[in-house]
Parts: sequence; structure tokens; C-alpha cells
Amino acid sequence: MIIFKKAAAMQAYLRTQRTTGSHIAFIPTMGALHAGHTSLVKAAATKNGNITVCSIFVNPTQFNDKADFEKYPMTVAEDVVMLTKAGCHVLFLPDVDEVYPNGFTDGADRDFGYLDTVLEGARRPGHFRGVGQVVARLLQLVQPSVLYLGQKDYQQVMVIKELLRQMGSDTTVEIIPTTREADGLAMSSRNRRLTEPQRALAGVIYQCLVSIQTKQGQAPFAIVQKECETLLRDKGFEPEYVALADAEMLGLMSDYEQGKPTVALIAAHLGSVRLIDNMML
Ligand code: AMP
Repeated sequence: MIIFKKAAAMQAYLRTQRTTGSHIAFIPTMGALHAGHTSLVKAAATKNGNITVCSIFVNPTQFNDKADFEKYPMTVAEDVVMLTKAGCHVLFLPDVDEVYPNGFTDGADRDFGYLDTVLEGARRPGHFRGVGQVVARLLQLVQPSVLYLGQKDYQQVMVIKELLRQMGSDTTVEIIPTTREADGLAMSSRNRRLTEPQRALAGVIYQCLVSIQTKQGQAPFAIVQKECETLLRDKGFEPEYVALADAEMLGLMSDYEQGKPTVALIAAHLGSVRLIDNMML
């Protein structure tokens, strides 16, 4: 694996790779990597003709909570080992000046409309603007043919697809299923911040998603939603939302609708850690 800190050097390398017919597959991350991230890298790296580029950049502009940014884990040495083992070809490790040479406000004015008003958008003001800003900039630097994204961040996938549409980009998107721990907890860099007792409880979010899925057609969603919120509170979580939404537009649904592609989404705090997860019904 080749590590680039400077975009110009990486771009020169990728240009030569493109002339030999390679396609650039890109996996943007914020580091503190786990098996969820490497599942994206492996999916890209095992495709013939792909040069796999992973970036690690903890983007300050997408943190609506300053403390969350300051506590965000950094494990670059371990990340390099994991990426090498996963078959990654290029690691882009830029500093802030490389990503934002014209300051943090440059490109911060994207509008994702409805998507930025619902669920994560409503609870994390400015978050998706920051995501759009950094992904647009990274796309400009890497110019990938294909972008690998995790279903774990369902709404983020929708925002990035909308970003690509707004940019008129022909980069395609591959969505990779969520990698989970044995108890169902979706892997996340933030899980490292859970205490041992909190970690032992964290699988409850997944149990709630499974119950939302299995009770489809058996009980009204309002009842299942209440049960989930009560269970989460009993276990010490502070639920932000337990929601049902249409899988294509993310329109909120008050009840199950047969035959409609639907996604269940949960966000909840456990101590100071905010966890999100989702499941297609
Ligand atoms: P992050 O480092 O949190 O910005 O995530 C980088 C990419 O990895 C995003 O596309 C995430 O959706 C994806 N990702 C994070 N956690 C998981 C997981 N448990 N399973 C699959 N993909 C994931």
C-alpha cells in the first residue's frame, strides 16, 4: 500500500494507473477502522481492475458537536496495518490544509433539501452540509469511478447520491451491508468509547430493529415503536428516534405499508456516545 499525504502526488500516481485501464474505487473514512470499513475495502479490492483508494480524514466541518470531534478516536498506525491486510492499494492521509486550502467555508453551501430536515438532518444541524462539503472535495481530488459506502449510514448514502446528482458526476455508488458484532451491534468507531457495561447493553438497538422487522403485519408500528423506546430507556439509553421511513425517499411512515420498500432507523445515546443503526424490512 502506498501512503500519500499530498493530493498532487496521489493524483499523479492515479493518472498513470488510469492510463493502464484501472478503475479507481474510493472508500472515504474517518479512520479508527474496524471490520465494517475493511469490508468496503475488500469488496473494492477483490474487483478485477480496481485500484482501491481509502482516505482517512476526520472532517471538522461535519461535527455539529465539538466534544464529539475532540473525542473522535485516532488510530492511524493500526489503520495502516488493517488496510494493508484488506488489500488496499492507496491510503490518502491529507491534513486539513490539503482538503480545505481556501478555508472551512469553501463549498459549505450545499443544500440537500428534505434529506437535511429529517432524522439525522434534524438532530445534527449542519452535519450533512459538512459531509457533502468533504465528499465533494475528496471526489474532486480522487476522481473515482466508483464510491463504496456503508448501509450503516443509510441517510448519508442518500445524501451522497444526491450530491453526485447535483455535481453531475458519473461516479457510481456501491452500498455494502452493515458489519455487526456477535450481539448484532453495528460496528462503529464510536463503539470504542463505550464502557464495558454499556458495551454489554449496546446490542439492544439491533434487537429493536429485529423486532420492528418481525412484527410487521402483526402489530401497528406505533405499538412496536413504544415497546422499543421503553426497552431502550429501561436499558439506560436515551432514544432520539425509532422511525419507519420509505427506503427510497426517506419519507417518514406512521405505520407499516405492505409492498413498500421500507427502512427502520434508530438513533440513541448511551452515556455520551450516540449510536445509529438501520434495517431494511
Ligand atoms: P466513517 O469512518 O464512520 O466515516 O465510515 C466510513 C465508511 O464506512 C462509511 O461509508 C460508513 O457507512 C462505512 N461503515 C461504517 N461502519 C460500518 C459498518 N459497521 N458496516 C459497513 N460499513 C460501515
